Amino acid sequence: MRSRDLKANSGDGPVGHVDVSHVHVAFGGVDVLHGIDFDVAPGEIVALLGPSGCGKTTLLRSIAGLERIASGTISLNGHEVANDRLHVRPEARQIGLVFQDWALFPHMTVAENVAYGIDSFAHRNDRVADVLALVGLNTLGDRMPATLSGGQQQRVALARALAPQPSVLLLDEPFSNLDTGLRVQVRSEVHSLLAGLGISAVFVTHDQEEAFVLGDRVAVMRDGRIEQFDTPSAIYGNPASAWVAEFVGDANFLRGEATGMFATTSIGEVALSELRQGQVDVLLRPEHLVVTENESGNGVVRNVEYFGHDHMVQVDLDDGSHVAARISGNPHVRRGQRVSLVSDGSACLAFLSS
Ligand code: ATP
Repeated sequence: MRSRDLKANSGDGPVGHVDVSHVHVAFGGVDVLHGIDFDVAPGEIVALLGPSGCGKTTLLRSIAGLERIASGTISLNGHEVANDRLHVRPEARQIGLVFQDWALFPHMTVAENVAYGIDSFAHRNDRVADVLALVGLNTLGDRMPATLSGGQQQRVALARALAPQPSVLLLDEPFSNLDTGLRVQVRSEVHSLLAGLGISAVFVTHDQEEAFVLGDRVAVMRDGRIEQFDTPSAIYGNPASAWVAEFVGDANFLRGEATGMFATTSIGEVALSELRQGQVDVLLRPEHLVVTENESGNGVVRNVEYFGHDHMVQVDLDDGSHVAARISGNPHVRRGQRVSLVSDGSACLAFLSS
């Protein structure tokens, strides 16, 4: 292993480009990342989404240079920064980092925190003022971090990461320390800011909604591997596996017998998106089901959950299975009522039954 200096924007490729190829990382002989392939285009925001312990933070830290990789390569802006023999140190990779706990220096003012990462003394004050204005904190430069709200501290952390003008911003669960309401507001502000700056960003989250709202593309990780890497709509509409389908949203699976482009299930015949033959598990998103009151229907309403913009009807089907249907508008059925539940005709994905 060797370390060497590098200004990441001295590479040959476009600024903001990240390329991760066949990366393996192990801790104490135990593999944690098993051959990760992953890329970020200039100006793109990419989410690393997955359950706890799947390796999201390890991948982010490997890109940052905070972990060494066992094999594979990581390139930033067309310049290789890590392989099995090379490890460019983090401060030479021209990346900005925002940690989960924001890691502000408590004994420094807001302005001093932001100035910390700027190498050059020339124009340092101007740069601090610019970046504080960018995150809407221009009047708070003299305050100490402890006197700020959570949302303001988050913005200081962001300003500090942006101050050195990184080519890529890496964020580890950046909103998880904020309560729900503030979280939605801050994430929307950060989204606009990053999109406006056109900076490439990779952020870690275990929250599917956050990944889908912020990410241009999402890498869904499981057990040290990427199960699917695509746009949010492609992942939701065309999940690579039943596991991904369930992880990224509400999913009903109905056992069915497929013959070509149709499958017979407990709610009748369902159209399929691909040719299938034999026993399958058909994926029906709740919004692709229709529920109507019907004394001779195929199920009974277990519960109705009202969300304002829509409601979820939980139905116990006569064959013993249970499904959830998302219906817009006001509830038109009630608990205990007999209903008929059918597909709305959308072509459904079917996974071969295990
Ligand atoms: P979370 O959402 O809970 O933060 P994660 O997906 O970010 O999880 P990682 O933090 O990357 O997961 O951890 C992946 C695996 O690697 C876990 O089993 C973890 O215990 C292990 N691990 C991470 N860092 C180290 C380390 N320094 N030494 C040993 N094992 C580690």
